[in-house]
Amino acid sequence: AVFLGRNAESRRMRRECADVLPGGVASNWQDAPPGAVWISHGTGSRIVDVDGTSYVDLHGGFGVGLSGHAHPAIVEAVSDRVRRGTHFAQPTEDTVVVARELARRFGLPLWRFGNSGTESTMDAVHLMRAATGRMKIIKVEGTYHGHHDSVQVSVYPDTEEAGPSGRPNSVPSGPAIPPALARLTLVAPFGDLGAVERLLEENPGEIAGMIIEPIMMNIGLIPPPDGYLAGLRSLLHRHGAYLAFDEVKTGLAVAPGGAAEWSGVVPDLLCLAKALGGGLPCGAIGGIPELMGLIADGTYEQVGTFNANPLTMAAARAVVCEILTDDAYRHFARLRRVMTEGVEEVLRRFGLPGHVRSYGAKGAVIFHDRPLHDYRDFVEYPDQWGNAHWLYQHNGGVFLPPWGKCEQWTVSVQHSETDVRRFVSNLERMAASLR
Ligand code: PLP
Repeated sequence: AVFLGRNAESRRMRRECADVLPGGVASNWQDAPPGAVWISHGTGSRIVDVDGTSYVDLHGGFGVGLSGHAHPAIVEAVSDRVRRGTHFAQPTEDTVVVARELARRFGLPLWRFGNSGTESTMDAVHLMRAATGRMKIIKVEGTYHGHHDSVQVSVYPDTEEAGPSGRPNSVPSGPAIPPALARLTLVAPFGDLGAVERLLEENPGEIAGMIIEPIMMNIGLIPPPDGYLAGLRSLLHRHGAYLAFDEVKTGLAVAPGGAAEWSGVVPDLLCLAKALGGGLPCGAIGGIPELMGLIADGTYEQVGTFNANPLTMAAARAVVCEILTDDAYRHFARLRRVMTEGVEEVLRRFGLPGHVRSYGAKGAVIFHDRPLHDYRDFVEYPDQWGNAHWLYQHNGGVFLPPWGKCEQWTVSVQHSETDVRRFVSNLERMAASLR
């Protein structure tokens, strides 16, 4: 009732615009249950909706928000750039500064820029194919890498269609994905080196490479088993195939050099997006010379009218050079401690089934007493308290990603310990009400 009462204006907006916006939103996932909340503005750690309610923002625009809202360094960089022109389809100096900083952080020397995570992972798949002349790729069951055809396979597959858990079928995500193309995307369970080895052996000389979220964030938050990422890299290389990390969510968030730094495994290609643009649309792909050289010599046309758009690059420069400094990561670690220790204490005190997983600026409460290992674990556990938790957070002034068990919280450099304590106290209120 509080949610409905608070969001009357959002619901009116949605009804009124459904004649011009399909579904009344600008992206299908903006309408995830319990319904789109229309936002008026945001500053610092807070956003204000069109009904005038202010929230601590832990949604972070699906993980973009490491800088928080209207960060002064971004406002200044972008305002300055707007005054000097925003689009020339020619490189600007900021692009080089950002590329050098990413090379330093991620240990990959060459970078290109686009406008979304989808473009980055599409470039990764294309580059692996161009380099090997092989058309098949491997992805993990339950990962999302954007909405291009090759990765719109087994994202949230129906488990009957997906078949046996150890040897999952490739299930196209809806009727728009050509089954012939989906058959080129082979699927393995997360964490299972043996399954990848089997796919490589059963398809000799046919697999270009594998794309993976190194810390899986499409189904809550699942860390890789020890040795898994390093094992994948050597296995793929042994078969003449490449490893691409999709760090659209993890990059910049879990460590300054993303999951590559966190795990000590530098892949052949690494995809970024989300937080890099500080709120402006962005994508980036970094890689080894052997692969990125195919861009330089024109074998693979990595192109786009808005690639390295000056406005995005000005914001990205502020993000990687001024905002996400070592201090920022120390701040994330402090907030993370408050949240994880607070949540664990509440779960323990009230005997609620659940555990918390968190890395850097990101984390999730998983209302299940056992750790999850892969997509099948994720599908099978009953998310008994997830929806109630979302509503308690919302009604208690904390804005989370849409309810369901898929997403994570994101904190920013502008969040305070008071902000994140509110998250813990809302959870506590929920737990107390269940007694
Ligand atoms: N890869 C991952 C891991 C993502 O979470 C997303 C988006 O949520 C994407 C790729 C696609 O990024 P975008 O929505 O910017 O196209």
